[in-house]
Amino acid sequence: MPELPEVEALTAFLREHAVGHVVTRVDLAAVQAIKTFDPPLSALGGLELTGVARHGKFLDLDVSGLHLVVHLARAGWLHWRTGLPTAPPKPGKGPLAVRVHLDDGDGFDLTEQGTRKGLAVHVVRSPAEVPGIARLGPDALAVDRDTFVALLAGRSGQLKGALTDQTLLAGIGNAYSDEILHAARLSPFKMADKLTDDEALRLYDAVRATLTGALERQVGQQAATMKGEKRSGLQVHARTGLPCPVCGDTVREVSFADTSLQYCPTCQTGGKPLADRRMSKLLR
Ligand SMILES: [Zn+2]
Repeated sequence: MPELPEVEALTAFLREHAVGHVVTRVDLAAVQAIKTFDPPLSALGGLELTGVARHGKFLDLDVSGLHLVVHLARAGWLHWRTGLPTAPPKPGKGPLAVRVHLDDGDGFDLTEQGTRKGLAVHVVRSPAEVPGIARLGPDALAVDRDTFVALLAGRSGQLKGALTDQTLLAGIGNAYSDEILHAARLSPFKMADKLTDDEALRLYDAVRATLTGALERQVGQQAATMKGEKRSGLQVHARTGLPCPVCGDTVREVSFADTSLQYCPTCQTGGKPLADRRMSKLLR
């Protein structure tokens, strides 16, 4: 699932390789991916790609004042292609959702693996027309310490949910919230408005360190030419059953209906495993 560091790396890549080129054509291979109809996708043809920006986990391509806004959801990715095939793709076949052709014959594919389709493409005159962008809280890398502390203090509910709520703080998803909470040595179930000053500052520092560390790795790796899987550097996320790199305890997980979180009991919960509904159901 691409989060702030991955989308920022894609943004940097596109600035370097795509900005300044004219979009010659946009092919739509997965009809459900497009969420707007006016302006049509075809309106981008013949216009120059003039800028690329990121809003939370949204990628925003400025095509001479029209915006192609992309949310990659869980399993979407942007693949840079040198020498795109000119024949239109067959709709509904494979992971391809949208193909953008540029005037030098290169371009990129927006793809989505799996059967649960969430990748969303909008063509709008202003990015704020996309509801998910209009609702975004301050960017997780741009927010200052006082604002961050105040946001959490005003939030009832668990830290895991607070960090991944895009309307509170933009850019953090399931993977980096696990990593941030591990780095801050805080339980994912701790209440956001019950943090001590010291804990809130530790969390703020962990947000910055985790995201900038990941960003440095992603940019160095030319994200747009790689696959969208999560890369090296994760300490607890997706590492259930493996040793914590900090203390050696076994990384545990809590499962929910369609997602799960990972954490280290020794580093984060005073050595106590958190209740896991799925496990309790099996044991009942
Ligand atoms: Zn640990």
